[in-house]
Amino acid sequence: MTQVHLKINNMNVTAEAGDTILQAAQKAGIHIPTLCYLKDINKSGACRVCLVEVKKARSLLSACTTPVSEGQEVFTNSERAIEGRRNTVELIMSNHNKNCLSCKRNQNCELQRLCEELGIRDNHFEGEHTASTIDDFSNGIVRDTSKCVLCGRCIETCKKVQGLGILGFENRGFRTIVAPVYNRSFADVDCMQCGQCINACPVGALTEKESLSDVINALNDPNKTVVVQTAPAVRAALGEEFGMPIGTPVTGKMAAALRRCGFDRVYDTNFGADLTIMEEGTELLSRIKNSGVLPMFTSCSPGWIKYIEYEYPDLLPHLSTSKSPHMMFGAIVKSYWAKKKGIDPKDIYVVSIMPCIAKKSEIVIPENKTQDYADVDKVLTTRECARLIKMFGIDFEELPDEEFDPDLLGDYTGAAVIFGTTGGVMEAALRTVKQTLDGKKLEKVDFQACRGMEGVKEAEIDLNGTKIWIAIASSMTATKPLLEDVRAGKSKYTFIEIMGCPGGCINGGGQPIIPSRIKNGKIGYGYKEMRMKALYSEDERQEIRVSSDNPQIQQLYKEYLQEPGSEIAEELLHTSYTAHKRFNIFDK
Ligand code: SF4
Ligand code: SF4
Ligand code: SF4
Repeated sequence: MTQVHLKINNMNVTAEAGDTILQAAQKAGIHIPTLCYLKDINKSGACRVCLVEVKKARSLLSACTTPVSEGQEVFTNSERAIEGRRNTVELIMSNHNKNCLSCKRNQNCELQRLCEELGIRDNHFEGEHTASTIDDFSNGIVRDTSKCVLCGRCIETCKKVQGLGILGFENRGFRTIVAPVYNRSFADVDCMQCGQCINACPVGALTEKESLSDVINALNDPNKTVVVQTAPAVRAALGEEFGMPIGTPVTGKMAAALRRCGFDRVYDTNFGADLTIMEEGTELLSRIKNSGVLPMFTSCSPGWIKYIEYEYPDLLPHLSTSKSPHMMFGAIVKSYWAKKKGIDPKDIYVVSIMPCIAKKSEIVIPENKTQDYADVDKVLTTRECARLIKMFGIDFEELPDEEFDPDLLGDYTGAAVIFGTTGGVMEAALRTVKQTLDGKKLEKVDFQACRGMEGVKEAEIDLNGTKIWIAIASSMTATKPLLEDVRAGKSKYTFIEIMGCPGGCINGGGQPIIPSRIKNGKIGYGYKEMRMKALYSEDERQEIRVSSDNPQIQQLYKEYLQEPGSEIAEELLHTSYTAHKRFNIFDK
């Protein structure tokens, strides 16, 4: 790679040809503020916050779009550069709803941080505001245009990560807003509710739909037994909301905090994950044995389910019919557990703490309702869970580590924990399927080929003499070529794990939002790997690491479900899917 020598703030800096001034400065540890810039996603230079002065250039230049050149002299902190930046941010603020105190992004807002960094204290340009829209009709996402800074990060994220174009700029000039086409609601377009646009948004313009008040009402209702379950990925990220380093596993503190919030039972969705493997693994074996529809796709990710229902409805027979782990868990709580405890299921309120926005929609899908009442009553995201803990005045960092409640649904295996990362469901399924087919204890439970952050991974696996190809994909952009091959009848795979969010649930749309600049001055990338490690380390610490070895799962089948795929298991733990027509802009 050709090297380029330049000076930034009179310091000699060496960059690579093709680098932008922003990249060169970051590599040299020099901070240039940004707003619309999002690494690998958005680099339009539209917001003009990263303005720098370059010797001999007539005007200030945006550092995120200007390439470095030999002998260039850049000043990031000259009076002119700072003044230019301040004017830009003040202009953004002049058309912004500055209601920070009640904003969900208060204290984790890139605009707030910019105002602080630039010492903005007055509003020199205060004037008329663009008419605003609040869209809170969908189950998962709220859009408030009065807080939008028109950075375009959400638009590019939806396009580049999910291959969808749900969001775009609407109207022109001062009336410009960011919205689904025709300023429709998220509820009326083919949005998969993955929430990746929320995590890309630097401000409070896109947020999750909060369900805290419903959960608090249930906690205060003396007639309700409130059961909480936590998804595997939550433990790898919840600590970040309390200032703990990225990737700190907080399983024990999370259980302790939820108990102190007043939940009557604190369980782990991991039990549901082990159950999912029993049902999904059996379904896979049956499809292989009986020449069923292959490849089989995993069905844990509700964002992915929504995507396939709209974008590839012809491939729905490839989807496993197994419900996702928290839905299975809810169904078992309100049937088997309720009977054993002598509680009327109508008096049980199940709350799922999830890293996911789409789970908020999943719980109300009619096909998922197998009993007279909802299997899961409410979903809180990891971020909402942190808000609940803070609201209840619990000093999270000081909590002792506690266990989940042990009775009936309390055991879980290492296989269940890794459901939270891309490749985890596949690895968990392979452990159980291989052990079942081999008819002996697995000596080596790790399937390294399933691990890592690549968009698509594949491997050939030997199942007791039968070789099968498996694939793992996360994000719809990575998944699409696999689906095209299946549609064209040229897929070599038998089993494909698909997750809606890049990296899997650890990077779900409900997880803590990583500020684009973290404490040590480095851009907050690598966070997915850090969270992933937290899950693999918990897997390694588990005594039992194969789902079918979970003694409480075995007890559940013995006492209630009989065997995977039985009539009652089908009724409670399986679902069906509906083909939807793609949204057409001419459908008014
Ligand atoms: S988006 Fe940021 S600046 Fe705007 S109201 Fe919310 S916290 Fe304040
Ligand atoms: S939730 Fe996902 S699919 Fe919907 S607009 Fe946002 S990024 Fe696109
Ligand atoms: S909604 Fe958020 S990410 Fe999208 S343009 Fe507005 S501020 Fe940027």
